[in-house]
Amino acid sequence: MAAIENRSGSDLQKLDKDHHLHPFTDHKELHKIKSRIITHADGVYIYDADGNKILDGMSGLWCVNAGYGRDELVDAAAEQMRELPYYNNFFQCAHPPSIELSALLCDISQPQFNRVFFAGSGSESNDTIVRMVRRYWDLLDQPERHTIISRTNAYHGSTVAAASLGGMKTMHKQSGLPIPGIVHVEQPYWFGSDRSLSPDEFGLVAARSIERKIDELGADKVAAFIGEPVQGAGGVIIPPDSYWPEVQRICDEYGILLISDEVITGFGRLGEWSGADHFGTRPDLMSFAKGVTSGYLPLGGVMVSDRVADVLIDKGGEFFHGYTYSGHPAACAVAMANLRILQREGLVARIRNDIGPYLQNGWRKLGEHPLVGDARMVGLMGALELVRSKDPVERFDENQGVGNICRDILVNNGLVMRAVGDTIVAAPPFILSHEEADEMIEKAWKCLNLTQEAING
Ligand SMILES: *Cc1c(COP(=O)(O)O)cnc(C)c1O
Repeated sequence: MAAIENRSGSDLQKLDKDHHLHPFTDHKELHKIKSRIITHADGVYIYDADGNKILDGMSGLWCVNAGYGRDELVDAAAEQMRELPYYNNFFQCAHPPSIELSALLCDISQPQFNRVFFAGSGSESNDTIVRMVRRYWDLLDQPERHTIISRTNAYHGSTVAAASLGGMKTMHKQSGLPIPGIVHVEQPYWFGSDRSLSPDEFGLVAARSIERKIDELGADKVAAFIGEPVQGAGGVIIPPDSYWPEVQRICDEYGILLISDEVITGFGRLGEWSGADHFGTRPDLMSFAKGVTSGYLPLGGVMVSDRVADVLIDKGGEFFHGYTYSGHPAACAVAMANLRILQREGLVARIRNDIGPYLQNGWRKLGEHPLVGDARMVGLMGALELVRSKDPVERFDENQGVGNICRDILVNNGLVMRAVGDTIVAAPPFILSHEEADEMIEKAWKCLNLTQEAING
């Protein structure tokens, strides 16, 4: 028997409006229109209650990497739930799925990673990191060393600690954040700068804002630096090539921990198993979530390097931290099945060698549209910056809401991409075919035309 009644789209919209508070939503605005009810999905397409078929250029929220309709993942969850639907990993217990997944994750990660701590989401993973990093320095008798450096416009999640790590001013303002001991430096956003420096020069300057902050605070106060290899929710900010090597140099030189938030970039999005692999860094901690299960069930966690794990284990005693659903058996079973799909179908290499370059090529052509000031993409993660004028670059007035206008036109024409201000971002599923990539590019071009008509008319 189905758990969900078969109601009409308009009944669902009414119930939704009356009872459901959505995440990151202005409900007054939502109620002027109606929520789009997504009822089912297959491959790279989602379907709404009005019968529209829409190409999901965002993989849900950067997570449905293996695509929709994967029976193997459904079966993995069902089988595990029949066998053991829940047990915790507290109190000197564990179960096969959490153990097997730990070993597999260490197998596909860089060699310094031999331990995993599980959480239920990316936010929880980053909360775990804040606690773990401070615990690490306490155990090394450096309790002053608690400050974590992050970046403007970063997104690390929505809980109190994760939103503090994030650099979203709008989020900080609503809740008295950040919490003490978290500071922010420049993001490596070349197109957002005055572009007087070359991208590589700019990348060095952005990285050295970390060094300046360390000098200002005193190295003996700084615990760690955290960054997304490519900033996602902030607008797919792809750093210049010079950036990450310089960040690594600075972290090494001052002995501070390097944290890579791989919640989007983990498990193949950039054509390598991690963003750290892509950019050549050697982080001490890595948070993951989203793509680990392709979004079929919630799961997150932290890859812990030997440097940190050895201290926690040898000197730590009990770490008073954990979640009821740390290493949930069904979520771990789905993650195992999902990672096996990525391995068996060679989807990570496919992004590096095939569909990545193919879509990037189409994406570059979108950069020729008069409305597009910058078209960038790495792996399957891209952005289009909508501008009033290309040369010289002139932005639209923020209040004009051009990004949202374009996003609405896109979805009404059968393609989901997301607007971050006037930046349109995309992150399609790894299984995207060449034909589907062509469809994305054609639809995007048409919608850029329609957007131009809408703002001129
Ligand atoms: C989505 C995201 C998070 C938060 O993950 P949740 O599962 O929504 O809590 C953290 N970091 C990055 C880089 C993300 O994109």
